Amino acid sequence: MTEFGTTLSSRELKKYRALINGLQCDGSSGETIEMICPSTGLPFATIPRCSAADVGRAVSAARAALGSSEWSSLSAGQRGERLHRLAELITQNRDRLAELEARDTGKPLSQGYGDIDTAAQYFRFYGGAADKVTGDTLPIATDHLAMTVREPHGVVASIVPWNYPMQIFARVAGAALAMGNTLVVKPAEDACLSVIETANLALEAGFPPGVLNILTGLGEEAGAALSFNPEVDFITFTGSPDVGSMIQSAAARNHIGCTLELGGKSPQIVFEDANLDKALPVIQDCLLMNGGQTCSAGSRVLVHQSLWDEAIDKLRTGFRSAVAGPYKDDRDLGPLINASQLRRVNAFCEQAEADGIPLLGEGTIAPDAPVEGYYTTAKVYGPVPVEHPLAQDEVFGPVLSLIPFRTEEEAIHLANATAYGLVAGVWTHDISRATRVAKALRSGQVFVNTYGAGGGVELPFGGVKKSGHGREKGFEALKEFSVLKTIVVSHA
Ligand code: NAD
Repeated sequence: MTEFGTTLSSRELKKYRALINGLQCDGSSGETIEMICPSTGLPFATIPRCSAADVGRAVSAARAALGSSEWSSLSAGQRGERLHRLAELITQNRDRLAELEARDTGKPLSQGYGDIDTAAQYFRFYGGAADKVTGDTLPIATDHLAMTVREPHGVVASIVPWNYPMQIFARVAGAALAMGNTLVVKPAEDACLSVIETANLALEAGFPPGVLNILTGLGEEAGAALSFNPEVDFITFTGSPDVGSMIQSAAARNHIGCTLELGGKSPQIVFEDANLDKALPVIQDCLLMNGGQTCSAGSRVLVHQSLWDEAIDKLRTGFRSAVAGPYKDDRDLGPLINASQLRRVNAFCEQAEADGIPLLGEGTIAPDAPVEGYYTTAKVYGPVPVEHPLAQDEVFGPVLSLIPFRTEEEAIHLANATAYGLVAGVWTHDISRATRVAKALRSGQVFVNTYGAGGGVELPFGGVKKSGHGREKGFEALKEFSVLKTIVVSHA
């Protein structure tokens, strides 16, 4: 078999290992999963297929590490120093990690670099924040001192998707470790290699064995066993709404909390006074980033009727110039993650075309892109009927839906008319309108005259409705990854 001209026999596939209690290990069954490069459709590495028994070992290691003096005696500032050291090591290994992330996920190389730099920034941010978390004093009586303190949950289970392995791992691990938790992370079977590498760097950065464990494997095996493990104290899940419901049931079964970061169908509202030359390139770039496989991609664009023709012309030109190619070539977009995702995205487009929805513009696939890779073209459709799956469902591919509107009320109604509520964009220079609309949108984040798909280490992030609950990123995450205790002292 060949990968970019290199012949790899099955024995030559690089073997990655899980990390349990500070030791690199295979799964107890000895079985492995082949990692496929989406750019070529060919395997290039293997990971252990961890079982429920391995989950038990990892959770026990995390539980033991929680009580070990090596971890529990560290001050918040000392935990912060280690997070800073980890950020430094990620930066030193930037080239290697960016190449690995791009190869594993298929994203263009420059986006791989962006993800590694953002991951380092998460560890820096939470390294600095670790010793800034304070409690309150509460004036209940003159002869009592009442106060609140924040304590770690204990063992946190983190289940990570394949689209931004490094960033999502870093935002969870940065905040959870800053608060003194220990972690068992189950990254996705489709892309997880940067997470394994970074966890090994964390040992070098001075995190004691068992504080950060990585279990590779399948969602329905290792992921399910982890989410139901009774020794886990808190779960954070990022992924699809269906699996999110299962995770919430598992958390309920064990009476523990969870945060769910699920999907989105985020609207971008372009009002009649918007600067199209500023808005449309941002809208296009944020949609095509990571091949449209971004939970916060603004995949539904509501365009004021008066700008419809101009917006169509400009987006048609923009989408026609978008080229999909292998990660190494750093085109506008890479391949999708796997064959089933490619089939799924293409099925949405075929259905839209069968239903008579106009395809307004379409990009191309680079002629030298390997035919076995999972490539699809960037596409823009419109007008898309509001109730059509293309306007309601998360396609998770490079597909933009345009919907016209006439009034502010209609725009708000359309923007809120899906099951999701993750991010929204508002494009207008009328500050009163921008504020009114931002307040009326049911969404975890609203951007005005800009859009931050996936961005913003400092910005609390999370959804409402089917997009999930709980907040990660920024200082808010430190609250999610800790529990508030009230202490009352009588000094009468
Ligand atoms: P997915 O739900 O299939 O998988 C996510 C993770 O869950 C993977 O690690 C997988 O192995 C694991 N998993 C699968 N089945 C499981 C089970 N039964 N029990 C426990 N774990 C299980 O999602 P995906 O296809 O990997 O990711 C795409 C979805 O994630 C999209 O809906 C996207 O919008 C969402 N997402 C959300 C955010 C966010 O922050 N809101 C970020 C990225 C992706």
